[in-house]
Amino acid sequence: MFKNKVFILLGTNLGQREINLSRAVMKISEFCMHDPEISSIYETVPWGFESDQLFLNQVIKIETTLNALEILERLLKIENQLGRKRDGKGYQSRTIDLDILYFNSDIIQYETLTIPHPRMHTRSFTMVPMAEIAAEFIHPVLQCSQQEILDKLVDKNQVKRYNSAEQRKD
Ligand code: AMP
Repeated sequence: MFKNKVFILLGTNLGQREINLSRAVMKISEFCMHDPEISSIYETVPWGFESDQLFLNQVIKIETTLNALEILERLLKIENQLGRKRDGKGYQSRTIDLDILYFNSDIIQYETLTIPHPRMHTRSFTMVPMAEIAAEFIHPVLQCSQQEILDKLVDKNQVKRYNSAEQRKD
């Protein structure tokens, strides 16, 4: 059976952020062939809007028989289940955001879905966890590795490895 290799970015800056991430990973695992590969969690500043509530971001790699549109449908459902509210006003705080970064090495352009994710290569909060788990993976459009993209990144927003034990002591 052919397994699609898919990278997904998780982000959250509202509520119990670590719990939001682990719930999302659990729900995503339900349509995976085996346990996802998971990056460290990173704490990052909001991108595109002002907020004191920092994000936690993480990238996971899954293997699934679902196609890209079926995955998107599942991710939107999980966002709803975890209390994501949308009011259509652009970037804003959220309990969970799930983006498909890569689907194998496919280039996909549907009305509702663009893969590779069109802004991922400009954002350190995506490229740092991505390079952690798949430094050599080649971006099918840019034709360079995750590490090369990260090394050339101009976005210098802070992306700090998140240590939950340390945070709880504060
Ligand atoms: P957002 O509100 O930023 O989470 O955007 C979600 C919408 O972006 C989804 O409903 C998708 O139709 C669309 N979209 C386009 N490309 C992607 C992608 N690679 N991953 C996730 N959503 C995408």
